[in-house]
Amino acid sequence: MSNSFFQGHCLCKAVQYAVDGEPLWCAHCHCGDCRRHTGSAVATFVGVGKGRFTLTAGEFGRIESSPGVYRSFCATCGTPMAYEREDLPGEIHLYLGTLDHPEEMCPTLEVFCRERLPWLKLNVDGHSFDGLPWPDAG
Ligand SMILES: [Zn+2]
Ligand SMILES: [Zn+2]
Repeated sequence: MSNSFFQGHCLCKAVQYAVDGEPLWCAHCHCGDCRRHTGSAVATFVGVGKGRFTLTAGEFGRIESSPGVYRSFCATCGTPMAYEREDLPGEIHLYLGTLDHPEEMCPTLEVFCRERLPWLKLNVDGHSFDGLPWPDAG
């Protein structure tokens, strides 16, 4: 815990986590599934290595939102917390809004722009992808 790089928690604080290394990336996702899971116009994620992630309080509730794709949440207060997929076994993607200090991250990617709400304009200093940035996924 003492060397954790950043921490986060759900709204009720029943679920808390720590990450002990640099994030891999920070990205906005415009896909309809993220929109529905967050109830918001866009979901912003911080990707971290799964080996660097530790739950420090509570447990995730988890659903399989599409085949091989898992979304985690606090089962007490419902806060969406994380995204994992079977074809990226080494990563866990944390919903940015659960971080203690989301202002310290800066998104440099946006994905699934083909599903972006037409009135939503984000100023992303980086790359935009119609779908996902790696082949054979999404
Ligand atoms: Zn909670
Ligand atoms: Zn998405």
